[in-house]
Amino acid sequence: MTGRMKINLKGLDTQETEKWVEELGLEAFRGRQIRQWLFKRLASSFDEMTNLSASLRELLKEKANIDHLEKVRTQISKDSTEKYLFRLNDGLHIESVLIPERGHYTLCISSQAGCAMGCAFCLTARQGLKRSLTPAEICDQVIQAKRAMKEPDRLTNIVFMGMGEPLANYQGVIGAIDNMTAEDGMNFSHRKVTLSTCGLAPIIRRLGRDTTVNLAVSLNAADDETRDFLMPINRKYNLKTLISACRDFPLPNRRMITFEYILINGVNDRSQDALNLAKLLAGLRAKINLIPLNPGPDMEMTRPSAERIMEFQDILIRKHFTAIIRKSKGQDISGACGQLSAEA
Ligand code: SAH
Repeated sequence: MTGRMKINLKGLDTQETEKWVEELGLEAFRGRQIRQWLFKRLASSFDEMTNLSASLRELLKEKANIDHLEKVRTQISKDSTEKYLFRLNDGLHIESVLIPERGHYTLCISSQAGCAMGCAFCLTARQGLKRSLTPAEICDQVIQAKRAMKEPDRLTNIVFMGMGEPLANYQGVIGAIDNMTAEDGMNFSHRKVTLSTCGLAPIIRRLGRDTTVNLAVSLNAADDETRDFLMPINRKYNLKTLISACRDFPLPNRRMITFEYILINGVNDRSQDALNLAKLLAGLRAKINLIPLNPGPDMEMTRPSAERIMEFQDILIRKHFTAIIRKSKGQDISGACGQLSAEA
């Protein structure tokens, strides 16, 4: 039997792990011990689990796997951003990006190999969807990043902004968030996990019921005509449907929804677009991240001038929005937003 056919313990939650060990005839606390090794001590093999007897480790090896992603390349940007290329068990590739911030790190992770959403400005879209990642594969991006860090505790923030559409892999993503935020898992604060979506409105509603992680919405246009052109998903869930799901999204502890807005020269960067955006988001607890378009090969669209970008921001600020121009990090290693293609 290959490792892939056995259950991967990194994909089970606390109860499932306890149930699984009990079915093997072991006591429930063995489950907690295993989870400690996996999520806190970042073990990559059963043999490292030295508080389990050799015979128990053999039994576990026979019944389960803790396969990890194979890191096949690390690229380091001039700004210290690091991009990792991982190979999955079946030979597909994904990328994650470790971003240094003031005093802490943020890891940008992938939820799918490829993506089916087809956004006009995004490189990942060009490869189409290969497949969704399992909870274990999503969690393992965090585990492998931590293993490579000198101070793993400084990785405090996770963003689902890598390859794929997280809400198109709901089960996988929810399973991964469980183990990232569980106390006996990686113990990340829900407040420091952000899920970014292109706008699958019905699933945004479900997310609001199931979790308390932060929501980011890739908006990129404030009228349906422009958004239809940039993001095909808009033809299914238009702006009215999307914004209504956002208005109903429960915001605990006075948090805000982040709206990402890529600025594209001559497409969505007019003053009128900024005014439309302000109108669309009126009354929402919204923070707007303006992202000047990152270039890609064979991309005809370009980013606006610095003055245009600032004017756009000014209009939003005058309308009392928090609007931040987000400088994309890691551009020189194609690690910035929309640049992940996982070419080996
Ligand atoms: N599918 C999810 C997760 C990917 S997030 C989503 O759409 O939100 C990727 C972020 O990068 C999105 O906010 C997207 O709008 C942005 N992005 C994609 N391509 C980009 C590009 N070429 N330049 C700048 N930002 C881009």
